[in-house]
Amino acid sequence: MNCVPVYGNNPAIVKDFTRCVGCGHCLAVCREEIGVAAKAHLGGAQGFPCVNCGQCAAVCPEHAIYARPDWMQVRDAVRDPEKIVVISTAPSVRVGLGECFGEKEGTFVEGKMVSALKQLGADYVLDVAFAADLTIMEEGTEFLRRLLSGKGTLPQFTSCCPAWVKYIETFHPARIPNLSTAKSPISMQGALVKTYFAQKMGLDPRRIVTVAVAPCTAKKFEITREELCDASAFDGIAGLRDNDYVLTTQELSDWLCAEQIDFAQLTPAAFDSIMGKSSGAGLIFGNTGGVMEAALRMVYASVTGQKPIDLLLDYTPVRGMEQIKEATVSVGGQEVRVAVVYGTKAAEALIESGKIDTYHFVEVMTCPGGCISGAGQPSGAVIPVPNTTRQARIRALYDADKQRSMRTALDNPEITQIYDTFLTHPLSERAEQLLHTAYHSRADASGS
Ligand code: SF4
Repeated sequence: MNCVPVYGNNPAIVKDFTRCVGCGHCLAVCREEIGVAAKAHLGGAQGFPCVNCGQCAAVCPEHAIYARPDWMQVRDAVRDPEKIVVISTAPSVRVGLGECFGEKEGTFVEGKMVSALKQLGADYVLDVAFAADLTIMEEGTEFLRRLLSGKGTLPQFTSCCPAWVKYIETFHPARIPNLSTAKSPISMQGALVKTYFAQKMGLDPRRIVTVAVAPCTAKKFEITREELCDASAFDGIAGLRDNDYVLTTQELSDWLCAEQIDFAQLTPAAFDSIMGKSSGAGLIFGNTGGVMEAALRMVYASVTGQKPIDLLLDYTPVRGMEQIKEATVSVGGQEVRVAVVYGTKAAEALIESGKIDTYHFVEVMTCPGGCISGAGQPSGAVIPVPNTTRQARIRALYDADKQRSMRTALDNPEITQIYDTFLTHPLSERAEQLLHTAYHSRADASGS
């Protein structure tokens, strides 16, 4: 077989076989960058353990593979007066969306993006970067516990990329204890919108529709994970899903075009509170190395009780398009060895060689350069997206980080507020209930 098999039950991507010319680009990226086709049997009905990253779609010159579209269901929800539609946007969307409307690559369009979502009828527009700050509070605290108490498995692996998590569950289930139990930012955001946000705003969770706009097709799979319905248990309402829909950046653009909204003419607007503020550290989650840098800032501040040193506010050893980066940082007298990887095939090499066990903390993102070039980002005229575009998006997020007065999750007043009034402290019982999760082996799964 020359192509990646995409079955009809794949929650993230679809394939239009009439457009496929059999060039094999999809299979090449799946084999050489993602490493799934290198391990899986390609034949057999429904027999391919896709991790849903969509990089096959990102390299398809015929657009034969694309993200499963959900924007029309969200449009129906905003037109339904019974529904309260809460839309949250991931960091990378604001440096990709402008490209769909003639802006230069990497243009930071946060304000217009929020304005566009309001025009489309969202009742509230919130920021996934808020939940990225929360992820760092939880994941960083979890890391410190593993590091300092000697309890828990090291190295700790980041868990915010659902394709990476599924890769571990499928091909290395013995490594599941290495994964942080912290949910991804969109999964934290969804669970909190239907609990904390609903309580504070006096909203009936049954009426809320949670939507995440993301650069990512794998998030469409992630929200279907059976266990991600913690708001349901918390609210005592059967059948509530933490997140109802994920739209890609490209889908948001398609929706705006269908509604004939003139993006260029929009007046920038601000996110709603009380889940709409983020530090610069939350914003850089979109870049390879961004989660690690954000975590190191928080860990440093938490251990020393001081602001992160300048070095960690521009931590170049974990920045850039090199596929594997490593660094050693001294935190309160303890040497912390970290690695940052993109491409699951590259992570596989670290696992196979055993080198991965020489680190304390490892960030893995599946897509090249991180989420800024997730398969849901606009593709533009050149396919795949060239590195110059990736670098422009990366730069835009670092520039935005630099311009923020808040540079760590600990500086974010909305993070202080949620711990003071709702969660108590990182890894509290309530935080464990709503913000952490468990994984399971998929070693036998033919899964989609
Ligand atoms: Fe999604 Fe980001 Fe992972 Fe790509 S790197 S699959 S965009 S979470």
